[in-house]
Amino acid sequence: MAAFHACVRRFSHLGLDLGAKSCIFKYRSEIIYYTITALASLPDTHQMLRQTLKDWSDKELKPIAGKLDKTAMYPKEQILQLGQLGIMAVDIPEKYGGAGMDYLSYALAIEEISRGCASTAVIVSVNNSLYLGPLKSYATEAQKQQFLVPFTKGDKVGCFALSEPGNGSDAGAASTTAKDGGDHWILNGTKAWITNGHEAEAAVVFATTDKSKKHKGISAFLVPMPTDGLSLGKKEDKLGIKASSTCYLIFEDCRIPKDNLLGELGDGFKIAMKTLDAGRIGIASQAVGIGQAALECALQYSGQRQSFGKPIAKLQAIQMKLADMELRLESARLLTWKAAMIKDAGKPYTKEAAMGKLAASEAATFISHQAIQILGGMGYVSDMPAERHYRDARITEIYEGTSEIQRLVIAGALLKEYQVL
Ligand SMILES: Cc1cc2nc3c(=O)[nH]c(=O)nc-3n(C[C@H](O)[C@H](O)[C@H](O)COP(=O)(O)OP(=O)(O)OC[C@H]3O[C@@H](n4cnc5c(N)ncnc54)[C@H](O)[C@@H]3O)c2cc1C
Repeated sequence: MAAFHACVRRFSHLGLDLGAKSCIFKYRSEIIYYTITALASLPDTHQMLRQTLKDWSDKELKPIAGKLDKTAMYPKEQILQLGQLGIMAVDIPEKYGGAGMDYLSYALAIEEISRGCASTAVIVSVNNSLYLGPLKSYATEAQKQQFLVPFTKGDKVGCFALSEPGNGSDAGAASTTAKDGGDHWILNGTKAWITNGHEAEAAVVFATTDKSKKHKGISAFLVPMPTDGLSLGKKEDKLGIKASSTCYLIFEDCRIPKDNLLGELGDGFKIAMKTLDAGRIGIASQAVGIGQAALECALQYSGQRQSFGKPIAKLQAIQMKLADMELRLESARLLTWKAAMIKDAGKPYTKEAAMGKLAASEAATFISHQAIQILGGMGYVSDMPAERHYRDARITEIYEGTSEIQRLVIAGALLKEYQVL
């Protein structure tokens, strides 16, 4: 409850008013009521947060998103502003410098940021769910003071290093090693595709202390950046989300203090999988934001573009496309919100997060593809944002678990639920 009063305070300078019922959902006994009503219409607090970020995104991100894409420039100023608004640490308790809000708030925030700029959204998402998320759940008090508190305001961001050149989907096959060096750990190996790698000032790194134990030999480590023995690869030249950096982290006899083990020895794989469950809600929200932006672009264009003497929006062929786009988008959004609300209720949400991500990422690809079709030639050039949305959408089907892996997660949960296997 205090956290939401803080949210009210945080946004009150924007002249937005909240009713007392906005705090209702913090009471567990009313979670079902909240879930049902929220799916129909968001509570006031969430609506306020959403509107605030929508306005902010329209003003601060939308006008520069094309330039950020072309120059692959990190949006430093915008990340700092989001830090001021509490959005770089949405669900981190206020006592650690976070906004103390819930995961539904986080989902809404990422969607609105992504509607303006998908690159900015992934920078925010990685800091919140992949970096701060495991720290919130597994760090000691001393680790929180060193690695969590300074990463809540946007001036410092973190990264999450699980994937390797030789293994992505098969994360349990990690070959980066951590050797016990007495009062320190010695890391060796290469992590691939690390988002925020070039800006990050710390990383959660997964490495094995005992390869014979396979995934049970993996542990999570906190690595300050820069640090001796850790070098960065070149920035990857990507199809989309160009303003977020992606690079290798190369560990060569990199020594970190013994105290930098996160959680228990051998718990790394479990920590990574739980972190990715939450992270998928962020990527689902990123995809919904991209889909929304593409739909808005197509709608606006269809009302203006004349063909055969009338706006193309009057053609039923175009209307069919718009209807299918909206249907996929809203279905994905509801699945994403549902996953966030189940997480907020403290219930298992692995299947729901995978369903939200799968639906939203495939919807974003479909919608942005259709948007290009509606724009015709103008959809194919960078004067309009449709082609950027199409390029940005594609990654949401790959990172934090490909669509194939989401289907395996969903099927696995289903078979267990129905006791089939
Ligand atoms: C831009 C970008 C940013 C990223 N950011 C991060 C980050 O910050 N941190 C991080 O740790 N990683 C990050 N990644 C890595 C990302 O999570 C992996 O790329 C992803 O998990 C897929 O792994 P892979 O690329 O090795 O593909 P592979 O695992 O080699 O898969 C190749 C293909 O085979 C399919 N496949 C694999 N196994 C199965 C199976 N069992 N059943 C069916 N199909 C299967 C896959 O679905 C895919 O289609 C990022 C990647 C990119 C491109």
